[in-house]
Amino acid sequence: MEFVVGHRGVIERLRKVLVEGERYPHSLLFVGREGIGKRRVAVLASAFFLCTNGGCLECRTCRRILRSAEEGVSLHPDFRFESLAAGKKSISIEQMRALKEWAYTTPMEGGRKAAVVDDAHLMNVHAANALLKTLEEPPEGTLFILVTSEPSMLPSTIVSRCQMVRFTPLTKEEVEEVCERKRVPERIKELCVEIGSLRFIDVPPEEVKAAEELVERFMKDPSLKLMSEEIWREQRRFLLFLMLLRKRLNSLLLKRSSRKLWELHRRLVEVEKLVSSSNVSLRSLYDYLLMRVA
Ligand SMILES: [Zn+2]
Repeated sequence: MEFVVGHRGVIERLRKVLVEGERYPHSLLFVGREGIGKRRVAVLASAFFLCTNGGCLECRTCRRILRSAEEGVSLHPDFRFESLAAGKKSISIEQMRALKEWAYTTPMEGGRKAAVVDDAHLMNVHAANALLKTLEEPPEGTLFILVTSEPSMLPSTIVSRCQMVRFTPLTKEEVEEVCERKRVPERIKELCVEIGSLRFIDVPPEEVKAAEELVERFMKDPSLKLMSEEIWREQRRFLLFLMLLRKRLNSLLLKRSSRKLWELHRRLVEVEKLVSSSNVSLRSLYDYLLMRVA
């Protein structure tokens, strides 16, 4: 099955519960780092749940749901996919209200419904409250799957309503297998193997090279601030820069240890975490990273 790489154990357990189980959880929370396939497993689980042919992954129902993952829109009336809308900073209450309304209508086809909320930690507080109400009184025959890389950003009231499913990073072999199949350049493959995730798989090698050059310039003179580069403009580019900078710092710290370097390292780790889990602007995070080390 090429739809998902790895996570065999998790998928098998989900299949058992959602296809064969007499009782199933109404809400699941998928937790694990970015770029390892949680969203795809959530779509797969939805197909297991909605398929009336034993979770075959081949019937018209299954195919429509799996195709929804590729196209980023739902192609099945009883399947819904919610994520951060383009250009928005959070998942809105309107989205969660619409989800609730949808959940309470009668299923169109097989008597069940499944919804995925991707990057659930990006719900604002109102959206989270609206969703919580739905999770507290789940309509019969409905499955909700929340997907997140930052569970600590979710209200504990939501987390406690869900059954948690933990995802491990991809193995070296799994990452290599995908990278080779997709003919990903060597440099990118190394990066992906190192982080056990396919998060940077689509980054063009030129972009990696540019980020490496920025890291070198930065290491020569952190006060330079690389202002003209505006690397905070784009999240992926910023994260790539941070990751390469951390690699560079790690190897430097092996050779010589200094308080300044450690302080930079500490902030770097902090900023990396905040980039994907908070609403703080990338520009502010960058400024914080470069604040003079006293
Ligand atoms: Zn099927």
